[in-house]
Amino acid sequence: MHTENNRLRPAAFLDRDGVLIKDTGYAFQVDDLHVLPGVADTLKELQKRGFLLIVISNQAGVARGYFSEDDVKIFHQELSKQIEASSGAKIDAFYYCPHHPQGTVKSYAIECDCRKPGTALLKEAARAFHIDWEKSFFVGDRSSDIECAINARIRGFQIFSDQYVMHENPHANIKALSDVLAYLP
Ligand SMILES: [Mg+2]
Repeated sequence: MHTENNRLRPAAFLDRDGVLIKDTGYAFQVDDLHVLPGVADTLKELQKRGFLLIVISNQAGVARGYFSEDDVKIFHQELSKQIEASSGAKIDAFYYCPHHPQGTVKSYAIECDCRKPGTALLKEAARAFHIDWEKSFFVGDRSSDIECAINARIRGFQIFSDQYVMHENPHANIKALSDVLAYLP
């Protein structure tokens, strides 16, 4: 599957919890889905500027037995629906890592390449879309999001967080997703 005419497109790689939605800790029920203020409009604007919208998320709750992959998928469908209803923006793809080395569900309790800061999910996205890496970026609220961006050689923007350690070398710190627009063409 490729975008029409094979032209490269830049991608906005987006962490989910703490970037698109409120980080309530292992959210998987639709009642716990709270899109953060300004997010839907920012995604619409990013789309207008030509960016693919690709969510990259660690969902270790699957490995820990808190919820299933089906729960994750349903939750993501609902997130898509709410964003689209609110601003018309369409998320192009969701990629998530269900693993964790200390998981309690045996089949998911592995060391993997897809858990951020690993880049396997970005590589998976690269197989589905023709991505212009030079213009792409990552927005996350954890240090591991910025490490993932560095590993993929793209810019990493870290949203200020009072619960997570700030990375010492992000491309920039921002207060909310909407602040990223000021850094882009
Ligand atoms: Mg996060």
